[in-house]
Amino acid sequence: MTKLGIKDQLNRPLRDLRISVIDRCNFRCQYCMPAEIFGPNFKFLPRSELLTYEEIERLAKIFVQLGVEKIRLTGGEPLMRKDLHYLVKLLANIEGLRDLGLTSNGVLMPKYAKALKEAGLKRVNISLDSLNDDLFRKINGRNVSVQPVLEGIYAAREAGLGVKINMVVKKGLNDSEIVSMADFCKNEQLQLRYIEYMDVGSTNGWLLRDVVTKKEIFQLLQQCYELEEVEPAYFGEVAKCYKYKGTNIDVGFITSVSESFCSSCTRARLSANGQIFTCLFNGNGHDVRSFLRNGMSEDEIKEEIETIWKKRKDQYSDERSEKSSSNRKKIEMSYIGG
Ligand code: SAM
Ligand code: SF4
Ligand code: SF4
Repeated sequence: MTKLGIKDQLNRPLRDLRISVIDRCNFRCQYCMPAEIFGPNFKFLPRSELLTYEEIERLAKIFVQLGVEKIRLTGGEPLMRKDLHYLVKLLANIEGLRDLGLTSNGVLMPKYAKALKEAGLKRVNISLDSLNDDLFRKINGRNVSVQPVLEGIYAAREAGLGVKINMVVKKGLNDSEIVSMADFCKNEQLQLRYIEYMDVGSTNGWLLRDVVTKKEIFQLLQQCYELEEVEPAYFGEVAKCYKYKGTNIDVGFITSVSESFCSSCTRARLSANGQIFTCLFNGNGHDVRSFLRNGMSEDEIKEEIETIWKKRKDQYSDERSEKSSSNRKKIEMSYIGG
């Protein structure tokens, strides 16, 4: 298959697709779905609004024809979507797709890791923001202790999946956990990604002063470890990576706030109800579910998606300020999946 390799107006190719399969979650992380707002009366998407697995497969095939090589499933909590391994199998069979991953909070991983691996999933990113039980219970808003997440991590690894750990760092909340998380991941030979706290959505009360930058985290780590920079593996690699000297274990940073990377952003996002977003911070989605449900042909849908990408000019993080953050209509992280 020849890939069209379409590029947007800032010359960025489409390479990477995030698919949110559900907007619900069994956690209420403070920085993502604050429990005060996502309470018992919050209206999540009804089932009929969600793309079916066959619809997701159809769109994914078109995206792959347009240049996508990597797909990551996300949510909300993607493992809350029934029979997810069935979707994984459909996607893993798409010719031309190089990588298929999933981001999860890990608690349902012991139940599903084996089936997901057998279906063709390659890797998982598991979120863990603290190893301290009291703090972790507070952060996840559902009083879940660390142990179930650790069990999820081990289950994924035992099933043969690649495992990375994601830690969102927020000042005054879990910055005291930076070094202990590095110690844990290094001992367990797990790749760790520190994520700068972002102003996604409008419910988490983001303030610039709550961001712990890569520079600050790096300085702390340097007091304990010797770190060597690792060259990016490919154009558009989001994490800035380092290795602990003398090992093969790496640690990385997602510097969305302090060192934005819009100029190499190759990622499109598909929401659970079939809207394409060309930027995490662009609140205007493009409804592609209607294309599918109105009987448009593959070629017609392909053309529409191509046009959406070619028109893309987003570079929000390059232009971010506290003012732009509060003035803008933004989508929630739990809806679009990171
Ligand atoms: N529920 C899954 C999980 O937590 O891994 C998948 C969805 S979650 C929205 C995807 C990623 O976004 C997680 O690593 C999470 O920590 C991160 N995230 C959520 N809110 C964030 C924020 N405000 N800033 C930075 N990262 C955030
Ligand atoms: Fe749920 Fe993930 Fe958001 Fe936490 S970060 S509330 S686990 S979607
Ligand atoms: Fe990509 Fe938008 Fe993030 Fe910039 S702000 S890196 S364009 S998703």
